[in-house]
Amino acid sequence: MKDFFAKYKSDETWLLKEDKWDKSLQPSRESQFSLGNGFIGSRGILEEVPYGARPGTYIAGLYDKTGAQVTELVNLPNPINLKIVANGERIGAGTMDILEHERVLDMHHGLLIRHTVYRNSHKKRFDYQSLRFISMRNRHIVVMQVYVTPLDEGVTFTVQNLLDLSVTNVGFLTEGNKKHFRIEDVSLFATGEYLAVRTLEKDTLVAYGKSLIIEKNSSRRFAKDATTHVKLRKNQTICITNILSIFTGEDKKAPRIKGVVKGFLKKSINLGFDKILKEHISSWEKLWAVSDVKIKGAPDVERSLRFNIYHLLISGREGDGEASIGAKTLTGEGYRGHIFWDADVFLLPFFIYTRPRVARNMLLYRYNRLPAAKKIAESLGYKGAMFPWESAGTGEEVTPAWARNFDGSIIQIRTHEMEHHITADIAYAVYQYYTATQDQRFMLRHGFEVIFETARFWTSRVNYNSKQDRYEIRHIIGPDEFHEDVNNNAYTNWMARFNLFIAYGMYQKMKRLYPNELRSLTKKINLKQREVRDWKRIISKIVFHIKDNGLIEQFDGYFKKRKIELRNINRHPVPELPKSVEFKDIGKTQLLKQADVVMLLHVLSDNFDAKIKKKNFYYYLKRTLHKSSLSAAVHAVLASEIGDIEAAYRYFDISLNMDLSLIYGNTDDGIHAASLGGTWRAAVNGFAGTGISNGILSIDPRLPEGWKEMSFCMRWQGYLIRIATRGNDVSVHFHSKRKRDRLRIKVYGVFHRIEANKENIFKKKGVLHYEEK
Ligand code: BGC
Ligand code: BGC
Repeated sequence: MKDFFAKYKSDETWLLKEDKWDKSLQPSRESQFSLGNGFIGSRGILEEVPYGARPGTYIAGLYDKTGAQVTELVNLPNPINLKIVANGERIGAGTMDILEHERVLDMHHGLLIRHTVYRNSHKKRFDYQSLRFISMRNRHIVVMQVYVTPLDEGVTFTVQNLLDLSVTNVGFLTEGNKKHFRIEDVSLFATGEYLAVRTLEKDTLVAYGKSLIIEKNSSRRFAKDATTHVKLRKNQTICITNILSIFTGEDKKAPRIKGVVKGFLKKSINLGFDKILKEHISSWEKLWAVSDVKIKGAPDVERSLRFNIYHLLISGREGDGEASIGAKTLTGEGYRGHIFWDADVFLLPFFIYTRPRVARNMLLYRYNRLPAAKKIAESLGYKGAMFPWESAGTGEEVTPAWARNFDGSIIQIRTHEMEHHITADIAYAVYQYYTATQDQRFMLRHGFEVIFETARFWTSRVNYNSKQDRYEIRHIIGPDEFHEDVNNNAYTNWMARFNLFIAYGMYQKMKRLYPNELRSLTKKINLKQREVRDWKRIISKIVFHIKDNGLIEQFDGYFKKRKIELRNINRHPVPELPKSVEFKDIGKTQLLKQADVVMLLHVLSDNFDAKIKKKNFYYYLKRTLHKSSLSAAVHAVLASEIGDIEAAYRYFDISLNMDLSLIYGNTDDGIHAASLGGTWRAAVNGFAGTGISNGILSIDPRLPEGWKEMSFCMRWQGYLIRIATRGNDVSVHFHSKRKRDRLRIKVYGVFHRIEANKENIFKKKGVLHYEEK
């Protein structure tokens, strides 16, 4: 049988394959094979939606609370729903035997391609091939094309392609399944079908236009009715093309939306399948040109890394407006699509260094919710802005009150009451963005304000201990969520200090460089000189426990907790809970859920020397259960920094394969977003050793065994930098229209000024060679 889509497929290094049908794996495959463009996300179901499939169609930022404990990402009508019936039997998995099956996610071109051979109850076979994508060029377009051929006898197909309105959001705990939309308009027009739904709580409009084109031999027609009959001879092929457009009321004014959707669909149809696909592919190629990480000598790692990057690329949204990324991206309903610190700390770096416009949109998401964050602070008696632990549409706190613990028991959630580091994390994120992009405009309009308002929060959040003349932060949950209500969590205290520190520095900087803007900002937010002086005082007196031997105490009294060290951590990178401990008592022990002190050493790497990093890394490693998907990658980067490449590789491997090898057993609920970004960092910051040291880009590679060469791009202060490292060499190239441009960087610990448009090659000893390109 002809392979209709072969011409679009990339080479093997870009393909994620499913080569046999295994029903039990489908929920996680649907997450892995998700398609998206940052605006729309769609789970990788089979088009015939077999029984048990979990269709998921989500629009970034579209939430609804109806019937749920807290607001959640809306599962919208499913546009991928093709029913083909032949002689009373439906073609599809679960209804016919599967003789051959291959499904491929082409990560290079954002295509889901499939080939299945089915056999009906009379032993007659059907060849089924499909291709599907969500346009990366135009965020409103979804396309699917299917070729079906009866292989053993002539047949009449009944083709039905309805927008599937039966979808619901999954239920959590006491909730049943929930429907978050009502139908407003379903109508047919000359070339297709129109559907408008509205979310129940906020009445947000989502409109679909859909056309089905049927081709047989050289005849081509629109399916005018919901059901169409097509007669085929043996070995004759029918081609079904489905072009869809999706808009929300936020895109265009609601009263005109029907016209907009239909007009847009008409244009798309005129453009045609081939052209839409070509544009989509070229957009993907442009994205990969700056975000691919090539690894010579380790093709499997390269492919898995591409899987992580692919999922980052389909969840980031460029263009006007704001956007942020939930803990499971747009690939499932885990954590209800809420935005955590995962976005600001784990995902943002990838975007800062490859697609800064997405990073900017993510920070705008936070900026636009500054008023809500101020309200949260005020309601709790604090000043400034306090960001919610879990955030969704409005920026109010949306953490659920109850959730299921690891042992299956239902527990009360207290993260929103105490996991306050998120506020400092957001200030840190703004600072990271600014350092790497030098985007003054963003800072003047948004960034400085976020940094000042968050610093303000900390001045009201700290307590002055007059006996010891120091500031403390009490009643906290640190990143390690196993210990609740602790005092002086090292991560939180230091991050709060950092928040105050950058606020103070930025204030001085504005005073020098932007006095007028500073005047209007201080007026707008009513910031007093006295407050700025407070920042300085708190910075110097905030508690931080570090022993003479370099060990940092995670919080007051941590060292006095029951000592348990995990054995065999080398063999079991994700260790089991020791038999002697019950989950309910875990807070009494020294066991951690995830990186906490290690997290601090990772995010503020510049502030701590190698000795401290080593000491704490090994100490806490023996106590960390890695029960959160955020933990492994952080350990990988820090292990690289301290030169333990073996450990670095162990944790990198977990993070890399988290959703490919189903390591946490919950890939069904969506892809672990933080781990995607963490994996990229483990490669680019960890093994390639890139980092920012005192505002300067530094490179100090230490590749794992077998990796012959690693190369990638980073955007840095307006330049696109290409870095390649092999053996003891590093080559750095940056492009500039101004030939005389120089860039100061640090390679292998030595400062250099490198020239634009040249291959600058460094040997490990620090000798500089220039080579004309
Ligand atoms: C997470 C918390 C979260 C809670 C409720 C827990 O599993 O660890 O960070 O707030 O679920 O969503
Ligand atoms: C982790 C948090 C994380 C959340 C969402 C929790 O299990 O402890 O750090 O923000 O999951 O990924």
